[in-house]
Amino acid sequence: MTDPFDTDDIEPAASDAECPRCLKPAALCVCDAVEPIENRIGLLILQHPQEQAKELGTARLTALHLTDAVFKIGLSWPSLAAALGRPADPKRWAVLYLGSMRPQDFPPGRELVVLDRKGVPLPEQEAALAEIEGVVVLDGTWSQAKTLWWRNPWMLKGRRIALKPQRPSLYGKLRREPRREALSTLESAAFLLSRLEGRPEIETALLASFARMLDRYRATQPARPRPDRRRPQQRRGRPRSG
Ligand SMILES: [Zn+2]
Repeated sequence: MTDPFDTDDIEPAASDAECPRCLKPAALCVCDAVEPIENRIGLLILQHPQEQAKELGTARLTALHLTDAVFKIGLSWPSLAAALGRPADPKRWAVLYLGSMRPQDFPPGRELVVLDRKGVPLPEQEAALAEIEGVVVLDGTWSQAKTLWWRNPWMLKGRRIALKPQRPSLYGKLRREPRREALSTLESAAFLLSRLEGRPEIETALLASFARMLDRYRATQPARPRPDRRRPQQRRGRPRSG
């Protein structure tokens, strides 16, 4: 049993110095192997402010991998253009769908489906997919993502896009998610962009980085301090220490 007043303010080991690019401890940084990919479909990652403390978060790493990716932390933005920092038509952007869609509800042979405002697949899928200029991915736990959704009404104007992962997240048991199929931000973005652009190499490169980060995490885990225990209300979605 740990003393409840046991301090977490242990001097970090030298190997825990933070990388200025991904903001991860050096032991988890995989930036040296990242070669940015020129993506045609834009990516906007909006991160809930409380997501930032996560060691195994993937939002920054995802953005570092892509030449056209914008990463923002906050709760609300007045418009898509304001969030992106450039003009954009929200009708040509799609937000990764938060609702649940059963695999059997996907049209046959489809890994991606574009939905209307009610969550119903659009009749002309090819045309709807071809119109998409960019995708928005919300980074946080499921409830944090829901908060971002409701705090940014401009998202309601856009399309929604649902994906059908062929396998569960690489996170495995390192993270608990309410839905088994829930992918990390990196995996979701990799899936979306590789399918929308028809370039499987995008997914290959991003997943390789993610796997490398997780390997490093698992390798260093016994020697590293336990995750911060002082904010139990944020435990959901944190890596398990046991
Ligand atoms: Zn780094």
